Amino acid sequence: MPDHSGVLYIVATPLGNLGDMSQRAIETLGQVDLIAAEDTRHSKKLLVHFGIDKPMIAFHEHNERDQTGEILRQLAAGRHIALISDAGTPLISDPGYQLVRQLHEAGIRVVPIPGPSAVITALCAAGLATDRFCFEGFLPSKAGAREKTLQALARESRTLVFYESPHRLLETLRAMLAVFGPQRRLTLARELTKTFETIHQDNLANMVAWVEAQPEQQKGESVLVVEGATVLPSQRFEVDGDKLLLTLLSYMSVKDAAHHAAQLTGQGKNELYQRALEMKRD
Ligand code: SAM
Repeated sequence: MPDHSGVLYIVATPLGNLGDMSQRAIETLGQVDLIAAEDTRHSKKLLVHFGIDKPMIAFHEHNERDQTGEILRQLAAGRHIALISDAGTPLISDPGYQLVRQLHEAGIRVVPIPGPSAVITALCAAGLATDRFCFEGFLPSKAGAREKTLQALARESRTLVFYESPHRLLETLRAMLAVFGPQRRLTLARELTKTFETIHQDNLANMVAWVEAQPEQQKGESVLVVEGATVLPSQRFEVDGDKLLLTLLSYMSVKDAAHHAAQLTGQGKNELYQRALEMKRD
C-alpha cells in the first residue's frame, strides 16, 4: 500500500432514525478531508444535524465512472475521504463497487464503518429463517424480466430478501403470488426505524389482499423477506428438460410447452422455446 495515500472510509448512516448514527461514523465524518455523497443536498441535512461541515462531492450511479478517477486522484494525493449513501450502507444496492475494486487494485486502504442496512434490519425482525439467506436487491422493473427472475428463484430454499420502491410494491407482490403460490409466507418490512414502521408477516394470498385493502401500506420504502421453498424429499428429482418438452409437445403448442416446462424445471422460457422449436422441426 502506498504509505502516503489517504484512506477511503465506507460509512453507514441511518435508515431514518438519526439515533442509529454510530459514534464512530460521526467521528470519521468529522475527520476526513472530503465526503462523497450520493445526493449532497440530502446528506447535508444529516451532516448539519451532527455539526459536521466538510467539502462534499456528488457520487451517484450516473457519475460513478468519472468520479472514481477523481476520488482515486485525491486519495493518491493523501486526502482521506468518506463515502456515504442516502441511507444505510453504501454499496448495498448503491454505487461504489467499481470504486472499491479499483482502490484494491491500486493498493489504497478501504475501511468500513459499519451500521444500518435495510437488508439486515428487515431480516432480523422478519421471523423467517436467518441461518442462510440470499439478497436479491431490486427485481427488474419490466414485468417479463421480473417474472423470469422470480421463476429462477421459485425453488430456492434459502430465505429471499428483496428491496422495493413504493410505486411497485403491489405489482411485485402480485407477481410473487403468481410464481411462488398463495401459501408461501413473507414479511413486509416497511419504513424501518421510522414513525410508521410496519413489520407484517402472512402468506402471499393474504398479504396481497391486505396491501390492496390498505393503500397506506404502499407508501414509503420496503423490504420483502420471502420464506424459502420447501423441498420435500419426494420433490427432489431431476427433470430431463428434453424428455419433458417432447411429452408436452405431443399435447400442446410450442409456446405452451415451453411455458409449462419452464415452470416445472425453473429453466428459462426462451431457451426452452428455442429447444422446443428445434424438436418440432426435427
Ligand atoms: N444502501 C441501502 C441499505 O444499506 O439498505 C439501500 C439503498 S437502496 C437504493 C434503497 C432501498 O433500501 C429501498 O427501496 C428499500 O427497499 C430499502 N430501504 C431503505 N431504507 C428503508 C427503510 N427505512 N425501510 C424499509 N426499507 C428501506
